[in-house]
Amino acid sequence: MILFALLTLLALTMTGCGKRSSGIYSSEEMTQIHDVSGSVENMSRVYDNVVNKSLPSTINSRLAKDPGYGEYLSTMTIDPSKPMIALTFDDGPNDSSTVQILDTLEKYNARATFFVVGSNAKEHGDILKRMSTQGCEIGNHTYDHVELTTLDADNIKKQLSKTDEVIKQYTGQDCKVVRPPGGAVTVDTRKTVDRPMILWYIDTRDWESRNAASVISNAETYAEDGAIVLMHDIYDSTAQAVASIVPDLKDKGYQFVTISQLAYMKGEKLVGGGEYFSFVKNKGGNENITSDVSEGEYVDMSGNAGSYRKSSGKTPGVSETSAETSVSSDEGSSDSGDDSQDEG
Ligand code: ZN
Repeated sequence: MILFALLTLLALTMTGCGKRSSGIYSSEEMTQIHDVSGSVENMSRVYDNVVNKSLPSTINSRLAKDPGYGEYLSTMTIDPSKPMIALTFDDGPNDSSTVQILDTLEKYNARATFFVVGSNAKEHGDILKRMSTQGCEIGNHTYDHVELTTLDADNIKKQLSKTDEVIKQYTGQDCKVVRPPGGAVTVDTRKTVDRPMILWYIDTRDWESRNAASVISNAETYAEDGAIVLMHDIYDSTAQAVASIVPDLKDKGYQFVTISQLAYMKGEKLVGGGEYFSFVKNKGGNENITSDVSEGEYVDMSGNAGSYRKSSGKTPGVSETSAETSVSSDEGSSDSGDDSQDEG
């Protein structure tokens, strides 16, 4: 158990996710944990070595003095031998559906990643704080939900930095991951965005169906170890779906982790400007880019040029349809101020 607790600590520390981790340790402990984190990579992720040779002494002594501390750590565990999946939620926060989703996550001790829209997040500081407190990761989905491909470099940076400021203001955290609205990315975007761009592997198409059963089916049918699942926390139907998806997948042994945790646990180093579709074995990042192109150009991480995929996403086994057409929302429940939420 201590092994897994430590791994979680390392993952949290490496990723900067979870306010708890920054609040509960002294700066000395944090430094030691960082040292160990570095060792993990150097040791080719030989986990036993970490525990046997590098466990920070202050953590050991604290564990010896305080059994409850160990219990706390055990609730934050990630078992590398069990499947894990990253639920991601775009376009929020929302007073109703985001709160319901956080309730579900809390109930099952699950973590997820919320790609917030800055202008929306600004009005929901309490929800941002709660995300952070529950160990969720908060990602950047631009300030005004504008496709990066329509902006010049200066405006891309402004859209991202304004959102960063909101996240920092309410959680004290630096935002480490970006999800481009619509999934739209070009060569120029890649050069401008200094952080990893997180796309998705399973598109639940929740924005389209607004139907919990359909969202549940898509998520559970295509769930795989290492997958990134796209949802939107602005629909009550999605919140309803999550209330089933989490316990259902948990029963199948899945652990719910943040994007940064998933990348770390799967041994993937996230790089600025890189695009990541999943951490499913042999189905990661760039492999999926060419499967789904529509227009534009990209250069993948191997330096190969090609066409970029606009929006559309990926629901394995389901025929792709373009998501470029916005779906007008006639729901009164969304307070996002943006009626034309399309995919991503
Ligand atoms: Zn979006």
